[in-house]
Amino acid sequence: MSVAAPPITRLPNFINGQWTESHASEWRDVVNPATGETLAQVPLADAGEVDQAVEAAAAAFADWRRTPAEDRIQPLFKLKMLLEEHIDDMARIITQENGKTLVEAKAEMRRAIENVEVACGIPMMMQGYNLEDVARGIDETMIRQPLGVVAAITPFNFPGMIPFWFLPYAIATGNTLVLKPSERVPLTMRYAGELLEKTGIPKGVVNLINGGKVVVDALLDHPKIRAISFVGSTPVGKYVYSRAAASGKRAQCQGGAKNHVIVLPDADMPMATQIISDSAFGCAGQRCLAVSVAVTIGEAQTSFRDSIADAAAKLQVGNGLDAGVQMGPVITPQSKERVESLIGLGEKQGAKVLLDGRNAKIPRGESGNFVKPTILDDVPPTSDLAETEIFGPVLSLVHAKDMDDALAFLELSAYGNQASLFTSSGSAARRFRYEAPAGNVGINIGVAAPMAYFPFSGWKNSFFGDLHGQGRDAVEFYTDKKVVVERWAKEHSRKF
Ligand code: NAD
Repeated sequence: MSVAAPPITRLPNFINGQWTESHASEWRDVVNPATGETLAQVPLADAGEVDQAVEAAAAAFADWRRTPAEDRIQPLFKLKMLLEEHIDDMARIITQENGKTLVEAKAEMRRAIENVEVACGIPMMMQGYNLEDVARGIDETMIRQPLGVVAAITPFNFPGMIPFWFLPYAIATGNTLVLKPSERVPLTMRYAGELLEKTGIPKGVVNLINGGKVVVDALLDHPKIRAISFVGSTPVGKYVYSRAAASGKRAQCQGGAKNHVIVLPDADMPMATQIISDSAFGCAGQRCLAVSVAVTIGEAQTSFRDSIADAAAKLQVGNGLDAGVQMGPVITPQSKERVESLIGLGEKQGAKVLLDGRNAKIPRGESGNFVKPTILDDVPPTSDLAETEIFGPVLSLVHAKDMDDALAFLELSAYGNQASLFTSSGSAARRFRYEAPAGNVGINIGVAAPMAYFPFSGWKNSFFGDLHGQGRDAVEFYTDKKVVVERWAKEHSRKF
C-alpha cells in the first residue's frame, strides 16, 4: 500500500500580528538545493497585500514611537533568549532551504543574535546632544526620532542573518517594519516570526510579506514607507536605490561583489591556504564577502597555487545536514548552470582549469545543485571573468609582479565589498589598509565581516547610499534628527 505524501505547506504572511493566508494567484516552490525536495510553497503577494501590511505598520507606529526606548528593547531581550534556545532548529531550516552546512548555518545565526544584542543598547545609542547658551539664555538640543514605517528586502544567501541586520535596529529606534525575505528561502523568517510573536511585541510592529518583484515595487512606491534597506545583487540594488529615491525615500542598498585577496610571499602559507579556502568555498562561494580572486606576488604564485589546489580538492561536498560535509550545493539548478558556464567562459578567455568542479558526482546528490570547488589559474586580469561576480565555489588566480601592480588591479574593479591581504609584514599591511579600494578590509582574514557594532561598509558598486547597515550607522539611518532652539523669558521663571 502506498502512503500519501504529506500536503505541502503554503506559507502565510504575518500582518498585524496574525499569520494571514495569502490570496496570491502565483505560488513558488521552496526547494531544498541539496535534494530537489519541495519544502513548502511561497506566495508571490500582490500590491494589495503589501498595502495591508504597510497600513498595519502605520497604525502600530503611533503607539510604538511613544513607547519608551527601555520598554521597546524588552521584546528584543526575549527574542535574543528565544533565538539562543532555538538556534539548532533555525540552523537546520537554513541548511534545508539554502544548502549551506549546519556549522555555517549556526554561525550565521550567531551573527543574527549579535545584532539583536547591539540593538538592545538603543537607550544609549539613540541619544542626541545639547548645548546650553548658544546665545545668552538660549539652549539648543538635537533629538533623534523614528521615521515611521520602514521596509527591508533581503537575499537568499543568509536567510537568518541579513534580516537581522535591519529588524532589531529598525524597531528598537521606534519604527515599525515590513520585511520581505527572499522568496527562495522564506522558511527561516517564518520560524523567526513565530519566535517574535512569543516576545509579546505589539501587533503590527513587525510584518512579514512574501513575494518577489511585485512586492518590492509596491514597497518602493508606497507613500507611507519612509526608508528602504536592501541587500542583493548590484543590478537590483541600483534599481531599488533609484526607485526609492524617486519617491523620496531614504535608502541603503548593499549590492554584489568581486572580492580580492593579495597573497605576499612572506605570508604564513598553511594559514593563508586554510583561511582563503574557507573564504572562497565556504557557503559554496555564495557569500558576498567570499574571496573570488587571489592575486599572488613573487614566489607565492607557485607555493599558494599548489597548496590551495590541494586543500580545495580535499573538501567534502554534499548535503549540509550530513556529518563531515564541508560544502553544500548552490541555490538553484539555474545557478549551477550559470556557474559552470562561467567556468567555461574563463577557460575560453585563456584561464587554465586547475581544479574542475563541473559535472560533480555526489553520492545521493543526483538531484542537488552541486558544483565542486574549482580553481582557475592565470586568469587574464582584463578578461570578463576577472570582473564578473560568479557567486559559486570558483577561485580565480591572477599573478602580479608587486604590490603596486596588485593594487592597480584591485582599483580596476567596479566592486568594493572586501579586500584582503596575507602577509607577515607590518608595513605591507599598513599600506594595504591605507590604499585598499574596498570598504571591508581583512589583514590575514578571509571573511572580513564587520561585527554588529561596526558598519557593513561596501564601496563602489557594492553599495548605494551613505549610511550602512549595523551599528551606529543603523541608528542614523532609522532616525531623523530634530534640532530644538529654546528661549524662556526671565519674567516668566520669576513667577514660581
Ligand atoms: P537578488 O538581487 O536576486 O534578490 C534580492 C532581493 O531582491 C530578493 O528579496 C528578491 O525577491 C528581490 N528581487 C529580485 N529581483 C528583483 C527585481 N527585478 N526587482 C525587484 N526586486 C527583485 O539577490 P540574491 O540572488 O537573492 O542574492 C545574491 C546577491 O546578493 C549577490 O549578488 C550577493 O553578492 C549579494 N549580497 C550582497 C551582500 C552585501 O552585503 N553587499 C550580502 C549578501 C548578498
